[in-house]
Amino acid sequence: MIVLVLNTGSSSVKYQVINPEQEKILAKGVVERIGMSGAILTHKPHDRDEVRLSGEILDHKMAIEYVLSILLSKNHGVIKSKGEIDAVGHRVVHGGEEFSGSVLINEEVMKEMRRCIDYAPLHNPPNLKGINAAQQLLPDAPQVGVFDTAFHQSMPKHAYIYGLPYAIYKRHGIRRYGFHGTSHRFVSMRAAQMLDQPLDNLKMITCHLGNGASVAAIREGKSIDTSMGFTPLEGLLMGTRSGDMDPAVILSIMNKEELTLNEATTLLNKHSGLIGVSGLSSDMREIEDEYEESKRARLAHDIFTYRLKKYIGAYAAAMDGLDVVVFTGGIGENSPLVRKHALQGLNFMGVQMDEHKNEEQTKEERIVSKDQAKVTCMVIPTNEELVIAMDTMEIVKNGKET
Ligand code: ADP
Repeated sequence: MIVLVLNTGSSSVKYQVINPEQEKILAKGVVERIGMSGAILTHKPHDRDEVRLSGEILDHKMAIEYVLSILLSKNHGVIKSKGEIDAVGHRVVHGGEEFSGSVLINEEVMKEMRRCIDYAPLHNPPNLKGINAAQQLLPDAPQVGVFDTAFHQSMPKHAYIYGLPYAIYKRHGIRRYGFHGTSHRFVSMRAAQMLDQPLDNLKMITCHLGNGASVAAIREGKSIDTSMGFTPLEGLLMGTRSGDMDPAVILSIMNKEELTLNEATTLLNKHSGLIGVSGLSSDMREIEDEYEESKRARLAHDIFTYRLKKYIGAYAAAMDGLDVVVFTGGIGENSPLVRKHALQGLNFMGVQMDEHKNEEQTKEERIVSKDQAKVTCMVIPTNEELVIAMDTMEIVKNGKET
């Protein structure tokens, strides 16, 4: 089976062509600057060099058309006809309370997805544009939606209800949803496979640390809590997002700086986090390069790891124990310093990092704790596209929800 995986953003379309039965990526790429001047397609077939092509790409439909044409092209293509694409799997950011698993997309599902736009006004509309375009361009291929929020729908009510009047939840659906679900699900399953243990036996904390970052507490394979909430702004310090803070802070800033709602949203989402504190960069590599020289880069790094450590402690308590900690995402996979600082001093709860294994520079999934440690600490590269392709295959083959 061949699945086209699409991740559609406001001005970009990321894609992968995957054979999920063989867990093989045939090609991947991205169209950037859709609707702007200088739109560009970067395409990498698995067995040939990367190519970069520019063109005038006005909307998402044109972008997907362009992707299909390169997938079919003589020099850079990986398929001979559009008919070889058996199904399309779409990443959808917000599934609200409607979707606790991946689904075959039909008119009813589209209606529900449109209702979720309210929760993710920046993300869901481009996701829906991608689905509409793919339906038009590949009318014979079933389309499947895989939601970032779905894995966290197993959270108990006491973890997802805010301390606000309950009517606000009932009226507007304002509650904690959680994100990065596909990644948390993938690495928790891989960890159990690597340890050769059923998920049912394990209490795990998975740390997805990229530009956006979140932690999840996973008991018996189910998410029981996660650090992102109503939006991806809650929780850890992130590249450009503030994470947790006293809600009165924003009211006070809006008042003092005379900010509009849009300006306040931009402040919290784009100018805070690592870049806001350091004044240098939102990129963890640059923060670490300046760690010894710049006090504010060091402060940003320290806030990042201190918060992560607090969440790890809190989630061990939430699960009455801990067996596994997994690090993933660009930072989780590549920064020994973040892993070291986040786990430092946690020996009292059975966490013992092996310094040598932690420093190893490899892209492989691996254990980084000491052999005798009670808690196994692991680094597992995430692969959200593979999960989307696998879910898509399962749903199309079985004609049911996962
Ligand atoms: P996204 O959330 O956009 O998918 P990624 O998961 O690719 O992002 O993570 C990007 C982050 O990973 C950036 O902050 C980047 O600096 C960080 N990162 C990548 N490589 C390293 C490294 N070797 N050391 C520290 N941080 C790294």
